[in-house]
Parts: sequence; structure tokens; C-alpha cells
Amino acid sequence: MNVTINNVAMLDIKDFLGDEIKCECKKLHHVGIDRIIIEKDAISKLPEMLRDFQFKKALVVADLHTYEVAGKVVESVLGEEKFSYKTFIFQELEELVPDEAAVGKLLIQVEKDIDVIVTIGTGTLNDLAKFVSHKVGIPTIIVATAPSMDGFASTGAALIVDNLKTSFECVCPKGIIGDITILKQAPMNMIIAGFGDIVGKYSALTDWKLGKVINDEYYCDVVVKMVTDSMAKCINNIEGIKTREEIAIKNLMEALVVTGIAMSFVGNSRPASGSEHHLAHYWEMMFLFEHKKAVLHGTKVGIGTIITAKLSELVAQSNINFAEAIAKANSFDQSQWQENVMRLYQKAAAEIIHINEKEERNSISKRLARINRIQENIDEIIDVFKSVPSAKEIKSILKHAGGPIHPREVGIDEHHVVNGILMAKEVRTRYTILNFLSDLDLLEKFAYEVSEDLKKEEA
Ligand SMILES: [Zn+2]
Ligand SMILES: [Zn+2]
Repeated sequence: MNVTINNVAMLDIKDFLGDEIKCECKKLHHVGIDRIIIEKDAISKLPEMLRDFQFKKALVVADLHTYEVAGKVVESVLGEEKFSYKTFIFQELEELVPDEAAVGKLLIQVEKDIDVIVTIGTGTLNDLAKFVSHKVGIPTIIVATAPSMDGFASTGAALIVDNLKTSFECVCPKGIIGDITILKQAPMNMIIAGFGDIVGKYSALTDWKLGKVINDEYYCDVVVKMVTDSMAKCINNIEGIKTREEIAIKNLMEALVVTGIAMSFVGNSRPASGSEHHLAHYWEMMFLFEHKKAVLHGTKVGIGTIITAKLSELVAQSNINFAEAIAKANSFDQSQWQENVMRLYQKAAAEIIHINEKEERNSISKRLARINRIQENIDEIIDVFKSVPSAKEIKSILKHAGGPIHPREVGIDEHHVVNGILMAKEVRTRYTILNFLSDLDLLEKFAYEVSEDLKKEEA
């Protein structure tokens, strides 16, 4: 099949699966997912899906909560169809952390005769199952319990290894089941978090464009349209999401899955994640260090998107002094940088410093080359920043949905905001507005301006 910017809007999510797709961008796009069922009572189709793939015995994985909301239904449909399975339930009463211990617990359950892992849940369980599934070479089928994040279809699994949140390349799940009957009953804060994750694509797509203009990164307009079309369906029906309307929940789940497919198409996380996600990852790590109760991923992404929109606005309004940026780049102090990383990243610092050195991320010559490129393309770059909705618009979208819009509402303090803006770029290699501002020596100045701004709004 061929996809173009004109026909992509007409395609159904199922059209993206299967064979390689010829794209206008000249690349062949492909995703490793074989089947996606997002509809009412979709779980009833699980046994049929397992049999079609010729699986014989499933390891059903849940936690105490997801077992209640969907695990029992899964067991009953498998039982009725006489499909052989074994259930493992993580017994953590508090939040399950996707670390080495959790991986080990799951791994132990994979007996010789198991040929598929049926994962019941969202974020953490998804990550754990995808990782273990990849390691043992047994596919996984995801039964989603909430439309709360966009990792369902992604090939990456985010684990916490050696205290550092690390993304591992795995394989996609073989199948995804989004049972609308279950998804629409998910806790409202989880649904709103999923919506926040979708709103974050505004900033992710802007960062991708920035990578294209400044670093000649590969970019696909068709994939961008896939993502923006599915976003629009959600943003145009916020009321439906709030009232748990079936079609709105279906659109939200589809949007979350489509962004995952988009990542596979591109071969990296560009269509789904940028500076807003880097901020969210940074806060997540800090909360872990400070033993603070975790905040839902999409909620942090939503708040991160307000911040990156504010940064975009500041760039669009400012007069960039390139001579000063060049002087500053030439006097870059690696040891000062290292000190900051050690102070803020604590247990995770060593790994960050190691990756930074390996990838020469602080290379002065590379920075100077980027500054040059920015100067040459500054008009186009400013247009990119002007094309995103304003912070005010993003806030009103999130507020309308009923989501938190002030960092402090979810425990993200002033120092988390400032340090996040300054340091979140260290958690991932991809170039974003945070790297851009750092290149131009505007990051610190803007970090305090945004923080002041937020303080005023919260008052
Ligand atoms: Zn393409
Ligand atoms: Zn996300």
C-alpha cells in the first residue's frame, strides 16, 4: 500500500498493520503489531486471537488492581474457550516499580510451555512484559485497562535500572486489545493523563521539526499528519472524554496507539516524545529520589507541554544574540556541567556522564556548528515555534479536560521546574527546544522567567 499526505486521513488504524507501507517520504514504514482490536467487549475476542496466532498456553500477568478490573474477565473468557493459561499477579500494594526486582519476579513465572504473555494493564506492566517478552523471545498481547499513556504500541520499554530510568529497545506487542467497556470505566485521572500524553505531541512534533532544521534529521510529513489527525479527534471532543462517551474513549485509545505505530514507522520516538517527555522523565526520577508519590506520566507530560509552550513563546519574542552564544559556547565548562549533573541526578549521574562522553554531547565544535545552522535558519525556526498553540491555549485545553495545569498541584515545586528546564535535556539524546536554548545560552534565563510566570499564575 502507498500512503500520502492526502490519503493518510482516510486510513483506519488496521490499515497501518501488516505489510510494509510505501510512503511519500520515500521510506518503507512498518510496525510489528499484527492485530489491534479497540471496541466494546473486545476481550471476548482474545481466545480467537490467541488461536489464530497458534498459541497453546498463556501466562496472564496482572497486578492486584488490573486483575480486578480485567484479569477476571480474561480468565473467564479463556476458561470458557478452554484455552490453557496460568496467572501471575504482582502482589505490590503500593506502586509497582519497573526495576530489576520486578523483571526478575516476572521472568521466574515464564515456564517452558508458555508461548505467549497476556499482559493486563498499562504503563509499568506494559514495560515489564515487553521487556521480558523480548528477552525470552515469547510474544506479548496487551489487554489495556486504561487509556492512560502512549506506550502500548511502542517498541521501547522504560525500566529503572541502576536507579536510572532507561529505555530499552524491545519488540512491539503482537496484539493490542482495547476493550471500551473496561477503558471507559478507568479512573478519570488516568483517562485525563492519557489525554495529557496526547496534548504533549504538540511539543514533541515541534522538537522533531527542530531536529530536522538544525541537525538534518529524518522527518516524515505523513507520519506527522497521522499523529495530528488522531490528536485532533481527541482535542475536538474533550466533553466526550469527560463524560466517558464510548466514541471519545475509542478515539483517545486509538490516538495513543497510533502514536506508538508512528514511532515504529519512523524508527525512533520523535513523533511521540520530545522536551515535554524529557521534563516528565526528569521529574519522575526526582520524585523517586525524594520518595514522593509518583504522578501519572501523562499528567506530567501535560504540564511539561505548558512549560515548553512558554519557552517557545519566549524564543519567538526574543532577540537572539548570536555573538554572545558563540562566545559562551567557546568557554563551555565541562567540569561545571559535571558538577551540576552530579548534584541534581545523584545516583543516576554516573550513567548520564558516561553517555554524554560517549556521544560527545558537549562537543564545542558541534555546538558551534549548530549555532551557525540556527543563525542561517532562524526565520524558519521562529515560524516553527509560532506554529504551536500558545501556553494559554494548552492550559485551557487541559483545564477543560479537568487535568492539573499548575506544577504545584501535583507536587512539582519551583526547584523541580527550574532544574527540569536546565537539566532534563540530559536524560535523552534527542535534540529539543531545551538543547536549542542551551546552544543559544538562553536556557537559564528562560528557566527562571518561566518559573516566575508560573508562580504568578498559581498565586
Ligand atoms: Zn513516511
Ligand atoms: Zn508519553
